[in-house]
Amino acid sequence: MHKETRSTCPYCGVGCGVIIESRREQIIGVRGDPDHPANFGRLCSKGSTLHLTAAPEVTQQTRLLQPLLRQRRGAAPQPLAWDAALDLAALRFADVIRTHGPDAVGFYVSGQLLTEDYYVFNKLAKGLVGTNNIDTNSRLCMSSAVAGYKQTLGADAPPACYEDVDHADCLFIVGSNTAWAHPILFRRIEEAKKRKPGLKIVVADPRRTDTAACADLFLQIQPGTDVALFHGMLHIMLWEGWTDAAYIAAHTTGFDGLKATVRDYTPDTVAQTCGIPKDALYQAAQLFATSPATLSLYCQGLNQSSSGTAKNAALINLHLATGQIGKPGAAPFSLTGQPNAMGGREVGGLANLLSAHRDLANPQHRAEVAALWGVPSVPERPGKTAVEMFQAAADGEIKVLWIACTNPAQSMPDQATVRRALQRAEFVVVQEAFATTTTADLADLLLPATTWGEKDGTVTNSERRISRVRPAVPAPGAARHDWRIAVDFARRLQGLDIGPQAELFPYDSPESIWNEHRASTRGRDLDITGLDYAMLEAGPRQWPCPADPAGGGNDDGNATALPSPRRDFGKARLYEDGIFPTADGRARFANVGYRPVAEPRDARYPFALTTGRLRDQWHGMSRTGTLGRLFGHVAEPAVQMNAGDMARRGLHEGDLVHVTSRRGSILVPLQASAEVAGGQAFIAMHWGSEFLGGMSSAGQPLAGVNALTTSAYCPDSRQPELKHAAVKILKAELPWTLLAMAWLPTGTALRTREALRQLLVRFPYASCVPFAKAAPLSGAAGPQRTGLLLRAAAHEAPPEELLVQIEALLGLDDAGVLRYADRKRGQRRTARLQQTGAHTTLTGILLGGDTRAEAWIRALLQDELPAQSYGRLLLLPGAAAPVAVPPRSRQVCTCFNVSAAAIESTLAQCNGSESERLATLQQALQCGTNCGSCVPELQRLVRLTPPLAQAA
Ligand code: SF4
Repeated sequence: MHKETRSTCPYCGVGCGVIIESRREQIIGVRGDPDHPANFGRLCSKGSTLHLTAAPEVTQQTRLLQPLLRQRRGAAPQPLAWDAALDLAALRFADVIRTHGPDAVGFYVSGQLLTEDYYVFNKLAKGLVGTNNIDTNSRLCMSSAVAGYKQTLGADAPPACYEDVDHADCLFIVGSNTAWAHPILFRRIEEAKKRKPGLKIVVADPRRTDTAACADLFLQIQPGTDVALFHGMLHIMLWEGWTDAAYIAAHTTGFDGLKATVRDYTPDTVAQTCGIPKDALYQAAQLFATSPATLSLYCQGLNQSSSGTAKNAALINLHLATGQIGKPGAAPFSLTGQPNAMGGREVGGLANLLSAHRDLANPQHRAEVAALWGVPSVPERPGKTAVEMFQAAADGEIKVLWIACTNPAQSMPDQATVRRALQRAEFVVVQEAFATTTTADLADLLLPATTWGEKDGTVTNSERRISRVRPAVPAPGAARHDWRIAVDFARRLQGLDIGPQAELFPYDSPESIWNEHRASTRGRDLDITGLDYAMLEAGPRQWPCPADPAGGGNDDGNATALPSPRRDFGKARLYEDGIFPTADGRARFANVGYRPVAEPRDARYPFALTTGRLRDQWHGMSRTGTLGRLFGHVAEPAVQMNAGDMARRGLHEGDLVHVTSRRGSILVPLQASAEVAGGQAFIAMHWGSEFLGGMSSAGQPLAGVNALTTSAYCPDSRQPELKHAAVKILKAELPWTLLAMAWLPTGTALRTREALRQLLVRFPYASCVPFAKAAPLSGAAGPQRTGLLLRAAAHEAPPEELLVQIEALLGLDDAGVLRYADRKRGQRRTARLQQTGAHTTLTGILLGGDTRAEAWIRALLQDELPAQSYGRLLLLPGAAAPVAVPPRSRQVCTCFNVSAAAIESTLAQCNGSESERLATLQQALQCGTNCGSCVPELQRLVRLTPPLAQAA
């Protein structure tokens, strides 16, 4: 029977509503929920392919379906029953707690857990085990935003909503590539601009991203100089009389101190520090202050910084100084990276927080939470935050780790320390949906968890909107819900006399957990006592929505009771009355100073490496990385550099380079990019050792981009500076190269990739990614044809046995393949041609030693072009491209499989204004007419291609 289930997208903090289509307990489709106010029916390239990641031919290869135990590190894990697995985990944890105390235990969870999961984990650590050592990957994502809001506005509450985009006259986007990281919000920005051409978009970012390309004013600042930029803008505002003296006097404190500080941030000094023209700084200040309504949108560029809290606070200062807050279209609006980073904050799922925005450091808050939970006390000792937790495990202080729904061996900075921690810990439990993460490889005990499409509970998006997550299909195999696993483990610990013996986990459903969470919010700024699951059935709601609109506020002795206008049911916008949740009801200016990045570049490490997202990938790619079609836009790992820097250093496109920081080194191909400024480099955050590997000359496996990043963190938020590291970039001399590609039988490519992944360390450099010939999404319900691309490089030809293994895994070992080998010269060619009807196509190839023919051979294989006449040429080292086979072009539109070459050739025939040419292009090729994720890039290509009349 065909069934439709309303749920939420599990990727970014936009929190789009989805309708999952299923038949016979199998997810078969997904579309945007037209009634969900975050997206009104739209989905981006990631959300619109969710159902493909849940297809059986994918999940059978990637999911963890039963508990597994590794008897020793490095050994293959063996299945065991759930009871045995949980008994073992409880015994190991209880033993450590008794011997070394509760702080020898660490829980590292995830912003992708649901609020209910999060709540139980927090109670398990702080209420039962008696440790505050519970932190989450949200620490890497938004803890600076939390600290920034609390320091200035008094509470961790984003004051805006998405609708404010429609009301704004100026959008100040800083440290956010919204076009790629929050695509559906960016669609809203595009529409607002279309409706209101006077809307000004100001973007500040070290990279000229697709978001920057859409700006009216782009400030290409030096990495980490945001506080100087904001102070420089305030300096100009003060000089020009653009601040709002009445608002400052009525609703804030601390302005005089800040005024004295920003006196030193003269336009000359700031222009030089930020590397921007003075008049651009002036324009930014003017637009921000004098537009009727200015909305700031910001994300990891501010948060992932050693001065992340100062950056957030300095930006909020601008809103307070100009009165750009508490009215439609005006607010500082932090965009959360993860789907439920907000929910995690709400239940206090961080080492320094407690339920319902309470602070661990506050004795009254600890007492309140202890009373709520029915435990004697909540421990006072501060817990270890993410970086501190893994450092403590590496030092032997934390002895057992429980990791849920996250992949720290990919996502944490300074991977050398993280890997040491996972190796040194006596027992590592990984609770996961996917068996394919590097962290899973390093676990002792693996517990299979449910994931999107199977889970039941709630999430909160960036605009404080709580949405239901609903199951469309039952849990596969022996997988269990995250909250259920945590509860079963907790009960076992109690059975071993650990912690209070009262019934602390009486839950039988996510709703019963949520009801307890709801009770904990009474009287707090996020009060949801007026809401229940039944009301959420009717649609998502924003907090606060208290049962008693007259009461409440953060009643912790340093906050005011909030007047009734704040107590409306489901509040879209906060602080409209100018009253803030602080002791005196006033917002506080934060008198912060500019501090440069933790690791400025120098003569030894002359490049500033920044990291960021790709358009079609999500985090460590455990889900998006299963779809070849999502590798069409960016097919392989690369480090991007400015063409000028490359020319000065004698480097060329495609050169393999060592990128080295003070902590580690990786090898990666080089790519020229006009987005990257001189003296800088960029690597996407997604490339971990799941896709990018190799072995260093010292015999250490290469750990992906976070081998380079620093764990230096913000002293207030403890969020590490993942966005910036000083690196050197040197050409690698690895003359022997390998390219192996093949289409694989349905349902085997991802398993084959796992087998190939084990071989990556046999080369100094290697990467392995899937690819697909993406059918239009509307017709993509059937199995996705997937292939694999393995690239490697070495000083000399590797042992033949290794190449034979690769050939066998790629199906290049049967009698019918064409072969050429010259061992003396290190050359090897293997090609598999397949006849289907009258056509012969190339379905697999291995080029070993000389890969110069890659461009045309890759086109032949990936585009399935007729190949009958190229048999001999395929075996010839360095064979030139036949005229009939043009090199492959990058895919721009994933939904309709439209390449950059097709777009450029169509545009070459177009005339008219930019919007007319975009319309003609979309009509001709359909690109950008489905999810719209490629529209910013299409606009850029339109701008770069002169109209036909002009070209002639
Ligand atoms: Fe999902 Fe894309 Fe919406 Fe983010 S913008 S929630 S990734 S569909």
